[in-house]
Amino acid sequence: MAEAKRDYYEVLGVDRDADAKTIKRAFLKKARVMHPDVSDDPDAEAKFKEINEAYTVLSDDAKRANYDRYGDPNGPGGFGGAGMDDFFGGFDMSDLFSEFFGGGRGASRPRTRGRDMSISMRISLQEAATGVERTITYDRLAPCEDCGGTGSADGSAPETCPDCGGSGVVTSWQHTILGRMQTQTACPTCHGTGQVVGTPCETCDGQGRAPSREKVTVQIPAGVRSGQSLVIQGAGEAGVRGEAAGDLVVTVEVEQSDRFVRQGDDLACAIDVDAFEAMLGAAVDVPGVMPDETVTVEVPAGTQPQAQIVVPGKGMPRLGSPDRRGRLVCVVNLVVPRDLSDEQQAALTALARERGCRVAGSDETLEGMIDEVFSEDKGLAEEAEAPSGQAATHEAADDRPAKKPRPTKKRPFGKRRKKK
Ligand SMILES: [Zn+2]
Ligand SMILES: [Zn+2]
Repeated sequence: MAEAKRDYYEVLGVDRDADAKTIKRAFLKKARVMHPDVSDDPDAEAKFKEINEAYTVLSDDAKRANYDRYGDPNGPGGFGGAGMDDFFGGFDMSDLFSEFFGGGRGASRPRTRGRDMSISMRISLQEAATGVERTITYDRLAPCEDCGGTGSADGSAPETCPDCGGSGVVTSWQHTILGRMQTQTACPTCHGTGQVVGTPCETCDGQGRAPSREKVTVQIPAGVRSGQSLVIQGAGEAGVRGEAAGDLVVTVEVEQSDRFVRQGDDLACAIDVDAFEAMLGAAVDVPGVMPDETVTVEVPAGTQPQAQIVVPGKGMPRLGSPDRRGRLVCVVNLVVPRDLSDEQQAALTALARERGCRVAGSDETLEGMIDEVFSEDKGLAEEAEAPSGQAATHEAADDRPAKKPRPTKKRPFGKRRKKK
């Protein structure tokens, strides 16, 4: 694996300044003889991979430029991926060649119409909200450029195959242990198409189609959901010698957002709300799903943690009528301030006392209060253990609250204030 790779131009046998068409023709020519399905060479698979890789790089302008300049198709850092990572489930050139040669391996009558193809594409939630245009690069059997899809090198019309009479199938009888058996196979003369061309095109071997790297631009509409697909008619596999092409089905996968959870056209997100804002009510601005969108969320006074505040019309756009949008459901994440100034602390303490809250004073530390919890517990324990007749202990215990008169009751921490 560590051995040096052969030069891609050398692999395909083309000059460094060869144009795209020359590169493609050289690739097809080599691929046709080196494909593992047809070659007897024991190293056919490795060799096919090598030419496939060379073609993958040299047929892509960006990769080829990187390769010419840095010797690496991915650029100097090795990570200059040219937009190939936003779709997946594409096709491999070697699969196309199997299709190209396969004809009707085992099948009674191969198709002449092109197959439908499908690929998946990932987009972000934001792209699903706005709609997005993407250019996809994929490989397919496309109409042959050299013969215009006719399969004929000299432009002559195809004729009925003399060996199968146009059925595309040849029938043979075999004597087996079970008796005579009829087997049907694709006609080797016409590859199952039922027709032959006088002088077959060299590039496509008379099929009228050849593996090709294609580009198609897809418009993904706003509001698209995961699993929905777009059909691009005729962009699938080309048919044999001008027969109808299949369609390309692009299935969209919308990535999960780290801010929003989507359900249909509704979105949910968490919003931070300061405790004061929750108590008094506030208008809180949060980023929306659209680019540069700010959504103002009206937080009513007395809002509780985890409360849900619904903002209509700020969810995902509806597919087909993007002006209408779903709801944005904001779940309140109550944030308790930890950065109060001394003045704020004092003012709040006074306010809290007035409300009868069990607050620590600004001049008392939590640690000090915890220390006292234990001394209090000890006192209580002694009190509980003491026999009821021992008045001395009781007096001592009774003395404590008398020493520090407090204005209000129900203050388990407050009543021990300033005691040291
Ligand atoms: Zn035939
Ligand atoms: Zn051709």
